[in-house]
Order: sequence, then C-alpha cells, then structure tokens
Amino acid sequence: MFIGHYGVSFAIKAVDRNIPLWILFLAVQLVDVLWGIFILAGIEKARIVPGITATNPLDLYYMPYTHSLVAAVIWSTVCGGLYWLVIKRGKNQPVTEAATSFLRKEGIFFPALLVGLAVFSHWVLDLVVHRPDLSLYDDTYKMGLGLWNYPAIAFGLEIVLLFGGMLLYLRSTMATNVAGKFGMPILGLILIAVQSVVFFGAPPPSAAAAAATALGAYVIFAGAAFWLERQRS
Ligand SMILES: [Zn+2]
Repeated sequence: MFIGHYGVSFAIKAVDRNIPLWILFLAVQLVDVLWGIFILAGIEKARIVPGITATNPLDLYYMPYTHSLVAAVIWSTVCGGLYWLVIKRGKNQPVTEAATSFLRKEGIFFPALLVGLAVFSHWVLDLVVHRPDLSLYDDTYKMGLGLWNYPAIAFGLEIVLLFGGMLLYLRSTMATNVAGKFGMPILGLILIAVQSVVFFGAPPPSAAAAAATALGAYVIFAGAAFWLERQRS
C-alpha cells in the first residue's frame, strides 16, 4: 500500500490535533522509509519480477527488519516511546501526573500511543495488499492477502482510505487562506497520480531505484504536509 497509509495520518490528526501532521506522514510510512534505507544498504533484499503481482512488480523476498510483524511492533513501540520523550520534555510534566492522565488527550501517553499506532497501521494495511511476503519474524511464516492482484479494488481502496481520512481532517480544521482551502485536496490528487504511475506505469529499473524514489517521495510528501498544515487552523 502507498497513498492509503496517509488516510491513517489524517484520521489520527483529526483525533489529536496537537500531533504535527508531518510527523504522522512519516510515522505511517516509517516501515517503508527504513525499507528504502535497508534496500540501498543491502541489508534487506528485493528484485524486479514483472507480473509477480498484477500491480506491483517488486519481489520483496527478504525484509525481516522492517516488514515482519515483530519488527513492526518494535518500530511502533520505539517511535511511540520517542514521541513520549519529546512531548514529556516539552510539557515538563511530572511522571506521576503523566501516569494519572493516561489516555487523556492532554496527557503524554495518549498522543504517544497514537504515534505508535500510526507506525503499526502500516503493517496492517500492507497485509491486505501484499502477496505473502510479510513474515511473522525473521524470514518465517509469510503472510499477505494479495489485493495487489486485483488492480481496480486495490486502487479504489487506496483512494477511499486517503480521502476518507482527509475528510475527517478537513472537517476538524478550518482553512485560513486559499492554500489551506484547496491545498489538501490538490495534494490528494497528486498522490492519486503518483499511485497510478506506481500501479500502471512501467516497472522501475531496479529495486534500488524503487527504494530511492520511494524515499524521496516520502520526504517530499511529509514536507508538503508540514507546509499545508500551516494554512489551516
Ligand atoms: Zn510497506
């Protein structure tokens, strides 16, 4: 899954508007950001096999450190923990107070939990679309429901998730200028265009090229979220 992950960012942002949207944009794609880095470093492996699924030509045959269930749980916990530390410093909240405000929005656990959930949501949505290449741990018990083999349904799901989440966000915030009014829907259309190239365009020349392109895209989209969020209140 690609652009559908951002639907989760928007939905979580609608729940807790104190979490910066660009952080949620990176959180929902963190597992893929790490995948891009690990592929370029040769730690995880993939190759291009045109036709391996109807929409994605990547044979993701070895990615235990990013896309196994155990790895996803670990990364989610680490990121939730890091966010907890960051806002704990910002709020200078004593630990006892933090503990009693557990699961309250103004506390520091609830937003950290949401950031952790954002990271973990990546694996859950990937499970729906991937072929069985997501392991339980290491390189064993591979799972994947294979929706990538049904292009129309897979494409529709990405769009429904993205715009469903975005709608929740737009309804919970207000535009402060023209960019704030039209910026997010335009970003949505750009994301759909990128998704259709990924799904229906020519396969990338190599797994490394796919990884580098993905990394660039994730940084650019997080930057766009950073800027666009400032145009709304
Ligand atoms: Zn992924």
